[in-house]
Amino acid sequence: MEKLVIGKMTWPELDEQMKNIKLALVPVGSCEQHGPNTTFATDAARAASYAEKLAERCGNKVVVFPCVTYGLSLHHMDFPGTVTLRVETMMHLLEDIGVSIAKHGIRKILFLNAHGGNFPALEGAIINLKQLHGVDAYWSAVGSEISLGGLTGLPKLIGHACEVETSSCLYLCPELVRENRVPGIMQDSMLTHDSFVKGGAAWSWKNDASLNGALGDARKATYEIGKKMTEDSLDYMEKLVDEIIARP
Ligand SMILES: [Zn+2]
Repeated sequence: MEKLVIGKMTWPELDEQMKNIKLALVPVGSCEQHGPNTTFATDAARAASYAEKLAERCGNKVVVFPCVTYGLSLHHMDFPGTVTLRVETMMHLLEDIGVSIAKHGIRKILFLNAHGGNFPALEGAIINLKQLHGVDAYWSAVGSEISLGGLTGLPKLIGHACEVETSSCLYLCPELVRENRVPGIMQDSMLTHDSFVKGGAAWSWKNDASLNGALGDARKATYEIGKKMTEDSLDYMEKLVDEIIARP
């Protein structure tokens, strides 16, 4: 199906489609270290590619906006190159994007997030968009939570530069993946660290999670696992899009 991607359209082209468009998709990533195996663009590229795959399935009832390529990465600042926004900066950024899109008549917005650390900002932005601005906004996680694509025997904590995320990359953005991958150098304190278990970002990745920035073992990642994870998740997400559109 024809997909609408705003970065590849002019305004008259968009204007012609406005009668069909019911929902805006906004991919959300980060500029964050992903160990020695995949690049800083890992989350942003996965989110953007996932959004376009969803748009291919949905056709002209959705339009993809440019990816938010910075996120909340305070807990990754141990590693050079990582850039982080503050929670309030990112919340306002997402809110401003939502308000702008809604002003043009697209009153429903779905943020597609590929970075766990972004949760607090997304929650805050969604609440403000709905309660203060009357915009029907949602956010959902890209990929791995729906299906693990046949992966078994996983460590307790997954989702960052590990077999799960690297498989996702091999399907969605293979150009970011290094050929000679190495496993994470896990820290002992990781599994008992309260902040980590609660999903917060008020801790140090190097001290509390992994010395080389990676979790798990990215050597086990495959294209096939990534494809299964992604396509299973898209089956679900496609239905979610219709449900959101059908809501009054
Ligand atoms: Zn990531």
